Amino acid sequence: MSEVAAGVHFVEGPASNWVVLIGVDDVALIDSGYPKDLPLVVESIQRAGGRVDDLTTIAVTHGHSDHIGSAAALVDRTGARVLGSTDELPNIRRTELHQIGVGDILPVLWKPLIARWTVHAVRAGGLGDVGVASAAGLPASEAGPDALRLAGHRVLPVLVPGHTPGHTAYLLPDARALVTGDAVISGHPTTRELGPQLLAPMWHSDPALAERSLAALAELSADTVLPGHGPLLRITPPVLVESALRRDGD
Ligand SMILES: [Zn+2]
Repeated sequence: MSEVAAGVHFVEGPASNWVVLIGVDDVALIDSGYPKDLPLVVESIQRAGGRVDDLTTIAVTHGHSDHIGSAAALVDRTGARVLGSTDELPNIRRTELHQIGVGDILPVLWKPLIARWTVHAVRAGGLGDVGVASAAGLPASEAGPDALRLAGHRVLPVLVPGHTPGHTAYLLPDARALVTGDAVISGHPTTRELGPQLLAPMWHSDPALAERSLAALAELSADTVLPGHGPLLRITPPVLVESALRRDGD
């Protein structure tokens, strides 16, 4: 776990990452790991200096089970609100499902890293029902960073569709940090590659849209990138996007 700026803590979980935001008297999360990551999420809030019972908001990048997995249990415990983009709400509520399934994995299950990831995903509760029926919509990007405060931190949601229909990145302008979710990552259990990269096409709802959407990130001003998978990057968004697309074209 690393404190990126005052009250902004980046946590590398066993297979996916989340961010803990600490305020004066409340706590917020961006993403929440797999269902079985719940004890780790709770511990990370405490290590960051917060109290789980002060959790007021869980903003999610997208509705995949390795990002919203602990949200329902945390909502039950704390009454926190769960926020996602309007376009992602059906996936978060599980009235629709935009996630890779067993049928997509079978053809590549012979690959050792994929097999290992699949075992972890199943054990971590990845096949369980992780929907959050109460999830509500975020303010649109046009509303600016003053429209949303999470535990006192200004947050700008930036729509980056393609990985899922309403995938959202979050800019923390005061921390000069960008939470990218799965729009751009820096590593993943299914590959040995490290550094700015896109997930392989099989993981995206719409791979071509996932690439086009990155233009929205390239305009943002930040020095630190907090991806949904892989380590923190000290890099600006324009360089991040250029590097990820260049690697994707190799
Ligand atoms: Zn994902």
